[in-house]
Amino acid sequence: MIIIMHPEATPYEIDNVVAGGEAKGWQTHRSRDSGQTIIGLQGKGQPIDPFHLGQMPGVEDTMAITQKFKLTSRAFRREDTTFTIGQVIIGSNRLAVIAGPCSVESRDQLMETAHAVKEAGATFLRGGAYKPRSSPYSFQGLGEQGLKLLAEAREATGLPVVTEVMSPTKVALVAVYADVLQIGARNMQNFDLLNAVGKAHKPVLLKRGMSATVEDMLMAAEYILAHGNNQVMLCERGIRTFDNKYTRNTFDVNAIPLLKELTHLPVIADPSHAIGVRRHVQAVTLAGVAAGADGLIIETHPNPDQAVSDGDQSLTLPQFSELMAQVRKMAKAVDKTVW
Ligand code: PEP
Ligand code: MN
Repeated sequence: MIIIMHPEATPYEIDNVVAGGEAKGWQTHRSRDSGQTIIGLQGKGQPIDPFHLGQMPGVEDTMAITQKFKLTSRAFRREDTTFTIGQVIIGSNRLAVIAGPCSVESRDQLMETAHAVKEAGATFLRGGAYKPRSSPYSFQGLGEQGLKLLAEAREATGLPVVTEVMSPTKVALVAVYADVLQIGARNMQNFDLLNAVGKAHKPVLLKRGMSATVEDMLMAAEYILAHGNNQVMLCERGIRTFDNKYTRNTFDVNAIPLLKELTHLPVIADPSHAIGVRRHVQAVTLAGVAAGADGLIIETHPNPDQAVSDGDQSLTLPQFSELMAQVRKMAKAVDKTVW
């Protein structure tokens, strides 16, 4: 249930409602929406009479949230959630562009990419130091050394860093170096990991599991928000369908407007993993922007054919620059700009 307080409700009235909910065994969450305090009651408390609640001083309205996801729902928060990372406000009408290699491979590879994507207009640097590989014999990432290189690249370019964390035990370490913790598709329902990043109070990029429904993704985000961390971006990165002969996954463009309707959280499109084919990344990127994405994550590499992972879908540095020119045009068509 959510309780909408009057715009003029006093702190005392708000605390009183929160205390009343907690006394009945509910977990409470406060947020501000359109100048009003919204209190969410969650969990398995004793029944509360909505009529009685509605009579309490300072309460304007009460509402049951019928969806399974609560804190992530538009009912809980009508306004778009925005948050600031470095100079960039995520979820505003300016697109955030995250670019960089799939894996951090070396200082030269990362620095060259970081400078080039910055020059082309990217606002974040991505790069995996811990890689979730299908084969245990494939390159697994440089680990902490990779994190240090990312921090060095941030220092050199000013671009905040997005990098994946695969295990709850590594969250504290990755959080030292990263500005955004990425949860990969394969870990979308790793609930221990979701709990750990929820407690880390760092921005999170949550990727959609390859067989996850939109609702599964919202429930995964709910784990993070339940810890009081609402700095979550949801990432559509393509799903498994029957048609995988020519493409890696199927970009679910539907998910973007749907998520914008169902949740207040910002939505990021990942055309690279979605289609998996370099020459088609630009078309899918533009589709993501047209559909209403708040940002993009694009794999970019100085020499994709030599990349240790995801070379087939990685753009060259000139291709990334060309893509940014097209993104600016498409952003304009949907009344947005790029940071
Ligand atoms: C990645 O971003 O390189 C990655 C592994 O993505 P996903 O988890 O979406 O496969
Ligand atoms: Mn990748």
